[in-house]
Amino acid sequence: MALTQTAQSTITPISSNEAKRARLLIVDDDSHQVRFYLNGLSKIYHCSFSGKAENALQLARQFPQPDLIILDVVMPEVNGFELCSMLKEDQLTAHIPVIFVSGQDDMDSKVKGFSLGCVDYIPKPVFIPEMEARISTHIKLKQQTQLLESLAYVDPLTEVSNRRKYNETIQREWARSIRYAQPLAMLIIDIDHFKQFNDFYGHGVGDDCLIKVASELKGVVHRPGDLFARIGGEEFVILLADCGIDGAEKKAQEVINVMGFLNIANQGAPRHDRVTVSIGVAVALPKAGDEALNLFQAADEALYEAKHRGRNQFKSSRFYNGKQA
Ligand code: GH3
Ligand code: MG
Ligand code: MG
Repeated sequence: MALTQTAQSTITPISSNEAKRARLLIVDDDSHQVRFYLNGLSKIYHCSFSGKAENALQLARQFPQPDLIILDVVMPEVNGFELCSMLKEDQLTAHIPVIFVSGQDDMDSKVKGFSLGCVDYIPKPVFIPEMEARISTHIKLKQQTQLLESLAYVDPLTEVSNRRKYNETIQREWARSIRYAQPLAMLIIDIDHFKQFNDFYGHGVGDDCLIKVASELKGVVHRPGDLFARIGGEEFVILLADCGIDGAEKKAQEVINVMGFLNIANQGAPRHDRVTVSIGVAVALPKAGDEALNLFQAADEALYEAKHRGRNQFKSSRFYNGKQA
C-alpha cells in the first residue's frame, strides 16, 4: 500500500462482520507511523487514516463515524491540539474519544492534551499491544457511556428524546444561535382532545397512540442539529437550528399532514373524529443576554392560540430577535 504525506483512505471491509468492528480514525502526517499502526491495528479494528487535519475532520463527520481517533500532535498547518479543539467544538464529533500519540511527552503537552478533551495520551515510541489495550478500554467506556446516555435521554414509552434531552439541547442551540447569529425555531406540538381519547379507548390504547404519533413525527426531523422530543404527557417539541419562520411553518404544516396520513380515530373528540395536533411556532434570533425560556413561552402562547382557534392547526408567534413583538 502506497502511503503519502496526505494519505486519506479507508481499509475496505473484508466481511459483513467487519461492519460491526469498532472503527478507528488514525491521523498522522508520518506515513511510516501510519503503516506501523495499520499493520498492528487493522486486524482488530476497521481503520481509516488521514495525514491532514482538514481531511480528518471530514472523515470524523462522515457516517459511519469513527468510534475513536488516534491523533498525532505535531503536524504541519493544523496540529493535533488544534484539530482536537475543532473536534470537541463540533456537535457531530464532540463525543468521539481522542487518544493523542506523540513524541512530545513533556508534562505541559500531556496536560494540554487532557485539557482539550483527550481521553488518553500515549508517548512515542508506542507498542501495539499496549495501544490496543488502551483503545479497547476507551471503546468499552464509550459504549457504556452511550448506553447510560440513551437511558437518561430517552423517553421510555415512546423511545424518542425526553425532556432532559430537550433541556440540554435548547441551551446548547440557543448559545450556538447567539454565537453564529442564526435563527432558532421551536414548534410545540400538543395532541388535541387526548383526555377524551383516553376516556373513550382506555389508557393502554392511549399509550399506543402516543407511541405511533411520536414514531411518525420524529421522521419529520432530519438535520443533525435538530431535535424531536416528548416534553410532557401528550406534548412534543421540535427544535430547528438555523431555521427562520418560513422553514418553521413548513415543518408545522408537515406535522399536520403526517397526522392526517396517520389517520387514527378519536371518537372521543367533540369536533374531530381523528387524532389531530395543535402547534405553536416561534422563531428567535437571540443576542447575548436573551433567555431561551422566552422562545418556549412564545411558542406556548402560539399553541394556546391554535387551540383557541379550533385545534388541528398551527399558529405562529410574532416573537423575534429574542423579544416579544
Ligand atoms: P387539548 O386539546 O386542549 O390539548 O385537550 P387534551 O385533552 O389533550 O388536554 P389535557 O391537558 O386536558 O389532557 C391531556 C391528557 O393526556 C390527559 C392525560 O390523561 C393524557 N396523557 C398524558 N400522558 C399520558 C400518557 O403517558 N399516556 C396516556 N395514555 N395518556 C396520557
Ligand atoms: Mg397538553
Ligand atoms: Mg392536548
